Amino acid sequence: MDGLKPKDKRIIIVGAGFSGMGCAIKLLEAGHKNITIYEKNAKVGGTWETNRYPGLSCDVPAIAYTFSFERSCEFSHRYSPSSEIRAYCQMVSDKYGLEKYIQFQKEIEEANFVDSQWHLKTTDGNHDVADIVIMATGVLRNPNYPDIEGLYRFKGDLVHTGQWDESLDLTGKRVGVIGTGATCTQLVPAIIDDVASLTLFQRTAQWVAPFDGGNPRVPEEQRDKLRNNPEALSTLAAGMLEKIELLVDGILVDKTGRTTAAIKGRCDERLAEIEDPELREKLTPNYEPGCKRLIWSEVFYPAMQKDNAHLETNGIECIEENGVRLKSGEFCELDIIILATGYKMHDYMRPMKVRGENGTLLDDTWADGEFAHRGVMIPGYPNMFTVMGPNSPLTNFSVIEVAEWQIGYFLQLAELVLNGSAQTVMPDPKSTQEFDETLSEATPNTIWASGCNSYYLDQNGMPNVWPGTVVSYRESMQTPNVNEYILK
Ligand code: NAP
Repeated sequence: MDGLKPKDKRIIIVGAGFSGMGCAIKLLEAGHKNITIYEKNAKVGGTWETNRYPGLSCDVPAIAYTFSFERSCEFSHRYSPSSEIRAYCQMVSDKYGLEKYIQFQKEIEEANFVDSQWHLKTTDGNHDVADIVIMATGVLRNPNYPDIEGLYRFKGDLVHTGQWDESLDLTGKRVGVIGTGATCTQLVPAIIDDVASLTLFQRTAQWVAPFDGGNPRVPEEQRDKLRNNPEALSTLAAGMLEKIELLVDGILVDKTGRTTAAIKGRCDERLAEIEDPELREKLTPNYEPGCKRLIWSEVFYPAMQKDNAHLETNGIECIEENGVRLKSGEFCELDIIILATGYKMHDYMRPMKVRGENGTLLDDTWADGEFAHRGVMIPGYPNMFTVMGPNSPLTNFSVIEVAEWQIGYFLQLAELVLNGSAQTVMPDPKSTQEFDETLSEATPNTIWASGCNSYYLDQNGMPNVWPGTVVSYRESMQTPNVNEYILK
């Protein structure tokens, strides 16, 4: 590659979503050019490139769902559709010249730490070696196929929202949707007018809050003003993020419960607008708002009140060739089943086989639950950094901001290796244990442990996310305390 010196340390980034692109940009800015990014898709964007289900958009205000160093106002609505986020990712990649560093359609299947270097292997048998590896693999990657008896017996079309088949024609079809998370609340309103009937199989009702200020189209004149005033754009984005931060922290730490009560009030107002009392009751959650990730939608309840919509709360017994058998014994005949059942959020970089010092397999290190020191490094896995790893804040806040803080933090550690001050860096196991104990003490008091099932919970039923405020996480990501790390 142009301009490389023989002593330049080699860096491999896995994933060219927001996190991977953010890492590459910051490394290039710091003068490190010996970078290769491996990306399994044919384009940048990560989960935004993969996900194609109808109605997909982002519930973080679009202007704030951008890199802090590359704010954009090129979004048609306050909350942007996915196509505009994909376009933003492509624009960033082009502007920062990332594509020459990216190996597209290359998936890493193995990463082994041998003789102070990472040896990586792609699924098509290529090998590469690096001094530093950054796992920017995201959490919305491995679709969760529910463990429902007979799932694959279904003779109609079965599709997971995370692996959407764009040739699938829903027009006039009897469609079943399983799952009631953020994905479902975007999908259902987008398809309800096309399908003959839609049956939503709900296991747990969700708190659905109206967007603050709705989702208006952004007038071209307003965009034009922002285009010519980057400072105003930054200020606007910062204000939006501050508002979300207050909300997230309010739900989490406001012991008076005022924020939670305010959100619940807004949700209750919308629930009260549902005319059919039976439907209203079925859609009313029986746990605290915020226990699961809050859902924002103006259009979900109206969609569920259309004549061709049906909410099914009798549990699913099994799936048969022509539809869904309920626990009540009733049968629901369907042409298409859509799984809006989310992701295996606790897989992180797996199914990749990662072996650290002495060949220890990450699956074994994490056998009792996933952990990472401050969300970014794992003891026994030197020179390997994770973006949005275990214990990262993964709530209603913008994950792009969080990724940027993590990148800013761990690149200070990586720099010690890149500038030759150390050959390896990894967390001291004692510091990681202390960090883990602090989290364990704090998590039982959080809203996520208040009595609901959610993807925040790990295999031990404990929330695997940062249990403090957004502000406290941001502060913890300013400067690493090198005493928490072993440098060799
Ligand atoms: P999700 O939030 O994990 O929800 C999965 C749904 O599937 C839940 O309703 C769950 O029911 C249900 N489910 C799972 N297994 C089931 C089974 N065996 N039988 C019946 N129901 C089952 O998934 P998601 O909505 O796809 O969201 C995934 C992630 O993407 C989340 O982080 C979400 O925030 C994110 N997302 C973000 C946006 C955005 O705008 N920022 C948009 C879409 C998605 P229970 O509740 O009973 O477990």
